[in-house]
Amino acid sequence: MDRETLLKEEICEIGRRLWLRGMSSANSGNISARVSDNEVVITPTLVSKGFMKPEQILTMNLEGEVLRGEGYPTTETPMHLSIFKARKDIQGVVHAHPPVATSFAVAGKALNLHLIPEAVIFLGEVPLIPFQPPGSQELAESIIPYLEEYDAVLLENHGAISWGSDLTQAYHRMETLEFCAEITLYSQILGGAREIPSPAKENLLALRAMMKHKQ
Ligand SMILES: [Zn+2]
Repeated sequence: MDRETLLKEEICEIGRRLWLRGMSSANSGNISARVSDNEVVITPTLVSKGFMKPEQILTMNLEGEVLRGEGYPTTETPMHLSIFKARKDIQGVVHAHPPVATSFAVAGKALNLHLIPEAVIFLGEVPLIPFQPPGSQELAESIIPYLEEYDAVLLENHGAISWGSDLTQAYHRMETLEFCAEITLYSQILGGAREIPSPAKENLLALRAMMKHKQ
């Protein structure tokens, strides 16, 4: 099977997981993956991410033209394409509205506490970026400055977006992001979110910096 077909099938599987985990209610959320330097596959607009078929996934170039497939690509296409243009090593992008992480984005709070070792290493801090209208070029451009240092961002009063060196990694970062939001919320309800004690926290941060440097 060729890479384009494989990626379309993988997008359907990731979409199913997003929907099953309650991170993309109704038709929300969108997913894309890089086929080659100038081509990506991307989810269509107005389709539940839980029930997509590979033939519904569209193939586009980075200029925004649909090359193969029927219907219209997601309205968040500018956000996906600008990420693929800005960093050539990014292979997958996932945008969703996971309810707890989105609550942090609505409350105006970043996910910047170092609470769980795996999350410190594999996700890191998740900043909150100021609101821009969904689907706009302004939203697409506002993410670019964060691509180098971070693996995901919260979109104020909207949701979250993650990226990775493959689509599975981008999706895992979205799962980890929602897990971190849940842990932060529950621990604060229980009396306070306490960070990993020093010097373990600093050691984990150094390990993450080393791993990112190697990317
Ligand atoms: Zn959205």
